[in-house]
Amino acid sequence: MAEEFELIAEWANLACPNDSVLLGIGDDAALLRGCRTCGDQPGSRLLAATDLIAEGTHFEIPPATPEQAGRKALAVNLSDIAAMAGRPTSALVSLLLPRTRGAEFARRAMQGLEELAGEFEVALVGGDTNIWDGPFVINVTVIGHPTGDGAILRSGARAGDHLFVTGQLGGSRSGRHLTFLPRVNEALLLRQKVDLHAMIDLSDGLSRDVRHLVASASLGVRIEAGAVPIHPDVPEELARPERLEHALHDGEDFELLFALDPDDGERLLSEPPFAAAITRIGEVTGESGSILLLDEHGEPSELLPRAYEHRFTAP
Ligand code: ADP
Ligand code: MG
Repeated sequence: MAEEFELIAEWANLACPNDSVLLGIGDDAALLRGCRTCGDQPGSRLLAATDLIAEGTHFEIPPATPEQAGRKALAVNLSDIAAMAGRPTSALVSLLLPRTRGAEFARRAMQGLEELAGEFEVALVGGDTNIWDGPFVINVTVIGHPTGDGAILRSGARAGDHLFVTGQLGGSRSGRHLTFLPRVNEALLLRQKVDLHAMIDLSDGLSRDVRHLVASASLGVRIEAGAVPIHPDVPEELARPERLEHALHDGEDFELLFALDPDDGERLLSEPPFAAAITRIGEVTGESGSILLLDEHGEPSELLPRAYEHRFTAP
């Protein structure tokens, strides 16, 4: 039984890079030179990210409307550009439409997408439209560019960094996964205000995504259970430990998780540059591969991922 991440790791080795590739498979977006011989001016660099969402897996219609499905397809991609502290500029959109649903359904999906594109001044520059007998599938590719001195990678965290998240986590599946506003503007403000060492957007749940921040270096993390901000979408009537489980594992939060020097972190908390909450949830350690959750007494336990992962069940 192969898992999504194992397959992607195989493909990363096959990726036939050329001189245009500054960062290929493995981060939230690829970082490219404008051309193979364009030199190294940051202004000529491009970010590219693509994500596909499918009816039955990432949304159901109803309760989602076609507009919301189209909007989500763009929003998840904008979130990946935000994770690199990039500015999105254009998008290509491919629709695989159920034969039974007709042109008005397609128009409505594109309307939802265009509305969000307008909010971020993202130009729709191409795509593809096809019909089949399966459910609705929509793929978006977003192009953008890095800002400041360059893109912020998943891999730049250092031992001693403090870890922060924007917003609150958990309960997204009750509706927020369709309506969230990707943290593009917040990421650009963070880029200006502090020296971001590493950043990722939370799509698969904090417990899974935090691993990407410490994957390639000899690093670990300690997350303080009591500090994790729990979204009001997680039912209030649940006991605190159960609410925390939602915040750690649900996924589709599309908030930013980032690592900063502690001094920068203090500055950020004392002068927040935007309205969304910023919370310090833990720190990066030099203990390789040690992903720990500290309870209210400071007792550590291993934080294991429990988020949804695409698994293939065919032989
Ligand atoms: P995210 O949750 O940020 O969208 P994913 O987990 O989907 O990231 O993907 C992880 C990395 O693997 C990304 O760099 C992505 O571009 C790459 N990737 C995923 N699927 C493929 C594929 N079929 N071919 C090449 N690269 C892929
Ligand atoms: Mg991502």
